[in-house]
Amino acid sequence: MRELTVAERCAIPRHSMPHQDPRERVGNFDEVALGWDAETAVKEAQRCLLCRKPQCVASCPAEIDIPGFIAETARGNFREASTILRESSALPAVCGRVCPQETQCEQLCVLGKKHEPVAIGRLERFVSDYALRSDVPLPALPPSTGKKVAVVGAGPAGITVAGDLVKLGHEVTLFEALHMPGGVLVYGIPEFRLPKEIVRQEVDLIRSLGVRLVTNFVVGRTATVDELLEEHDAVFLGNGAGAPSFLGIPGENLNGVYSASEYLTRCNLMRANDFPRNATPVAGGRKVVVLGGGNVAMDAVRVALRLGADEASILYRRSRNELPARLEEIENAEEEGVKFSFLANPVRIVGGEHNCVTGVECVRMELGEPDSSGRRRPIPVAGSEFVIEADTVVVAIGQNANPIVASTATGVETDRRGYFKADAEGRTTKPGVFAGGDIVTGAATVILAIGAGKKAARAMHEYLLDSRWPDFAEA
Ligand SMILES: Cc1cc2nc3c(=O)[nH]c(=O)nc-3n(C[C@H](O)[C@H](O)[C@H](O)COP(=O)(O)OP(=O)(O)OC[C@H]3O[C@@H](n4cnc5c(N)ncnc54)[C@H](O)[C@@H]3O)c2cc1C
Repeated sequence: MRELTVAERCAIPRHSMPHQDPRERVGNFDEVALGWDAETAVKEAQRCLLCRKPQCVASCPAEIDIPGFIAETARGNFREASTILRESSALPAVCGRVCPQETQCEQLCVLGKKHEPVAIGRLERFVSDYALRSDVPLPALPPSTGKKVAVVGAGPAGITVAGDLVKLGHEVTLFEALHMPGGVLVYGIPEFRLPKEIVRQEVDLIRSLGVRLVTNFVVGRTATVDELLEEHDAVFLGNGAGAPSFLGIPGENLNGVYSASEYLTRCNLMRANDFPRNATPVAGGRKVVVLGGGNVAMDAVRVALRLGADEASILYRRSRNELPARLEEIENAEEEGVKFSFLANPVRIVGGEHNCVTGVECVRMELGEPDSSGRRRPIPVAGSEFVIEADTVVVAIGQNANPIVASTATGVETDRRGYFKADAEGRTTKPGVFAGGDIVTGAATVILAIGAGKKAARAMHEYLLDSRWPDFAEA
């Protein structure tokens, strides 16, 4: 078939993504975005201008050959497209669903200067799903190097390191504290945005390459980093930022108050949505108020609706313009009937009988000059206190580093917030120990964790071959 001209490519409009009807989807945990058929994927791929200096690649932390995989998709060569994707990412079907493409690859897409950018994320999802359905062969492995690596944490960072190192001939064991691998992908992000089955299949691929997975293994308790180093030639720390933050306001210890981590873990990993068939409950939840405005808050409030809340709302101290969550997820939440209380800050959680939550006392806010984050600073309006009724409150204002690994490892320094100090390639202050992902950067994104894992795997490979350890230079 003849190649399309630039004008012809530009004339093709961006394809939309079919979604489950909002009225139906609030009653189930099935995936909201339904994916594309092959014909749509080919047409969308034909929009790509195949730029000689592709900006999309420059802005992808996972260094995916985006024009390469899109060109193969445009020709209908989905297997080849998938092989290109898998060369740089162990989790393409995950990224195709949850990556904030609008602020990464798609933001710099040249087509996007005059038209809408190529839907890179949706194409990534289509190709990876196709590959998971059709058993694309695994890459051949090089001979064993005889070197052993321990990877702590089976989240996106650890999975990437494990996948990249096993492909280089090293023997890799992935130690995971929970009973299931995936990290936030399985315990945080709800099924309706990212089915667990997708994560399982992508993790199974790296296990088929020979990565050994050990679950229910808490590094810092079951064994320390120093003990792992006695049996391995290098260790990667990818234990994430899983400890919840609280506001420090009165009433946070009342019955019916959850951290977003606990609320989402109960629902996602411990199937509270299927109580009593699964033994984990969540409290009543007729009126659920979620404190915060990021992706985690949006996930929690949408889960509350699906658990049958009569009313589920977001309480956010700035206005809609400053909401940090992805626009797509805000719009999904709005369509599903989530209520938003903007310019309101919680000052106290109110309790009643049996120490159960009955409401959230708030103060009205107004926006002042921009602060160091570039967003307008919220300022309380004196005397404007009011109470919102609630029987469940979910605190979704961020995550912190859990100290368990750091406090039991000698010589691995952390910053004052408990995150590991690491250079740009993930080397920590202790020879042989690398770190990356949320436990270095603080809570960030899947693609940044994958990018950190890729860089660390390259540096670990060099170290495993030559044992050289440069003086520590923080990035
Ligand atoms: C609810 C929620 C929604 C999100 N939505 C998005 C989104 O839409 N898009 C996006 O890009 N990002 C999103 N993020 C952020 C993203 O998921 C994280 O940035 C990413 O998962 C970080 O990867 P990681 O590998 O560093 O850590 P994690 O995913 O946290 O994985 C760390 C793993 O280490 C394990 N572990 C911890 N301690 C130990 C120990 N002592 N021993 C052994 N194992 C241990 C944990 O159990 C976990 O499996 C979201 C986060 C949350 C919480």
